[in-house]
Amino acid sequence: MLIVQKFGGSSVANAERVFNVAGIITEKYKEGNDVVVVVSAQGDTTDDLIEKAKEINPKASRREMDMLLAAGEQISIALLAMAIEKLGYPVVSLLGWQAGFNTNSTYGSARIKRIDTERIKAELDKKKIVIVAGFQGINRFGDITTLGRGGSDTSAVAIAAAMHADLCQIYTDVDGVYTADPRLVKNAFKLDEITYDEMLELATLGAQVLNNRSVELAKKYNIELEVLSSFTKVPGTKVKEATKMEKMLIKGVAKDTNVARVMLVGIPDVPGVAFQIFSRLAKAHINVDIILQSVGRDNTKDITFTVASDKGEEAVAAIREYAEKVGAKSLSYDSNVAKISIVGAGMETHEGVAARMFEALGDAGINIQMISTSEIKISVLIDAADADRAVQVVHSAFFDIPNSF
Ligand code: ADP
Ligand code: ASP
Ligand code: MG
Repeated sequence: MLIVQKFGGSSVANAERVFNVAGIITEKYKEGNDVVVVVSAQGDTTDDLIEKAKEINPKASRREMDMLLAAGEQISIALLAMAIEKLGYPVVSLLGWQAGFNTNSTYGSARIKRIDTERIKAELDKKKIVIVAGFQGINRFGDITTLGRGGSDTSAVAIAAAMHADLCQIYTDVDGVYTADPRLVKNAFKLDEITYDEMLELATLGAQVLNNRSVELAKKYNIELEVLSSFTKVPGTKVKEATKMEKMLIKGVAKDTNVARVMLVGIPDVPGVAFQIFSRLAKAHINVDIILQSVGRDNTKDITFTVASDKGEEAVAAIREYAEKVGAKSLSYDSNVAKISIVGAGMETHEGVAARMFEALGDAGINIQMISTSEIKISVLIDAADADRAVQVVHSAFFDIPNSF
């Protein structure tokens, strides 16, 4: 069997944990499997490197940031390989470019274009355990790129897809995907299975247990993922195609604090205004999420929308000139907001789900600023200060009384 295993930062945070991971890897190797391992930087290394960069130059180019951040994974692959050597097994560590990760040139959030797997295959043929640096690749100019925060998950799934692996295991510091972040919600429980679509929504809406691009890739290439803990030996959560999974109305609650709300008040209520605003944002490469337009009143209307929290200022800058030209009353943004979402394929065929969510928030005195829905999710925008409490009350509204829906 060919097995791809990925270990996150906390799983390799110190020497003891590196040896623990080496034990998990060699156990599978001993059984006669080919094993390719993807590792992240140790503990908070990536955050620490970002801080170091800020001390030198807060406006450092994205190219140099990637050069710096890729170093975190270089440390962990070498240390893990050394631990495996010490246990007496053949092993080789490879940086992203050595492992054949070709990406585009979007530094900081590069996309994998292709993996040339010859080197990995050659090392496996020599019966070596192959340790690959996650989160990084190389672009056509021969420069180092990184895939965006949490990108090692994507590296692992991409290798599993390129090599037609039989198993792709994502080891982390929780023993699976829960109905909410178990660190935030005591009563959250572990799901045995979740569909790609549901996991994709949860990941995109803030559940950082899996990177959303990794789920997208897994779905595209039909790679079944197993999310499990490197600290315990209990079975994890399977992320897979919908089969005859138990139909749960709601699979989980997610929180995203990486959001800012931009408010444009008192613009003319005439055709073409929305186009003028959102085409400027698109030109500035700013992704817009929830959009709300008020009903026209006295020939004016308001438009409110959300962007990533670090894009609030840029979004305002991109539309300021237009807003002034058409005589808008005000233009501002607010980063003290959070998006709380519920996700579940079952809600498509059930009425009353939104009402139950809104009731829980209302009872807790939490005001809803914006709402957005799709077939399998409902998101609300609220004050950031209420975010944790909102996750807890919404989770309890759906999960504390089993089968109540
Ligand atoms: P790794 O370093 O292994 O990649 P991450 O920190 O990226 O780990 O992701 C694991 C964390 O995701 C957990 O520690 C947990 O706090 C958080 N998390 C958020 N939502 C969920 C969820 N629904 N289920 C499990 N974990 C979650
Ligand atoms: N080390 C990178 C990060 O912290 C990649 C990862 O952990 O997946 O984002
Ligand atoms: Mg992660």
